[in-house]
Amino acid sequence: MKLKSLTINGFKSFADKTEIDFQPGITGIVGPNGSGKSNIIESLRWVLGEQSAKSLRGSKMPDVIFAGSATRAPLNRAEVEIEFDNSDRFLPDQPDELRITRRIYRSGESEFLLNGKKVRLKDIVNLFMDTGLGKESFSVISQGRVESIFNSKPEDRRVLIEETAGVLKYKKEKERAEKELKETADHLDRVVDILTELK
Ligand code: ATP
Repeated sequence: MKLKSLTINGFKSFADKTEIDFQPGITGIVGPNGSGKSNIIESLRWVLGEQSAKSLRGSKMPDVIFAGSATRAPLNRAEVEIEFDNSDRFLPDQPDELRITRRIYRSGESEFLLNGKKVRLKDIVNLFMDTGLGKESFSVISQGRVESIFNSKPEDRRVLIEETAGVLKYKKEKERAEKELKETADHLDRVVDILTELK
């Protein structure tokens, strides 16, 4: 699967619609300090489901919307779209061209679209879980991240290894199933109580 393009519209310093087409090989993004290089990477993490405003250098999620400049009024909406070439069927259930769109409004309301259809954040997270892509993956390594991995607690490092090895998905499913099992056992206890009362 290859990254084809990233379209940024109203996200951080990108007030105007900006499309970046990724050609085969290595792409380098260069520019003076403060010109928006990190904002591009943040837009990529955001469209893949980033939920932490803090990790996007904001205090709340609508802070990612263009906040205005000396010559331009603030915007009310940010949209980022990412397109992948999935013709190698890296994601077997998805079409040859995979498009993910995320929008946010000043009100805080936001939405995700997968190939133009509204989906939940969970669908985007599940789509990329254990693939090596996604917001927490190693395909996006920010400044200081390598150091923080080295300095992290063994348990936290284990989670990273589990994600890389592809077992995290099953662990999450197991946790979900165990929770459901506990809830069912609680319901069963309640039924036994009622039956005892009725006797
Ligand atoms: P450096 O090389 O110093 O790391 P950079 O090229 O990575 O810089 P960024 O950090 O991506 O630059 O961009 C910072 C710029 O983005 C600042 O000028 C900041 O004012 C602007 N910016 C950030 N958030 C917003 C926003 N919501 N609205 C408008 N501009 C914003």
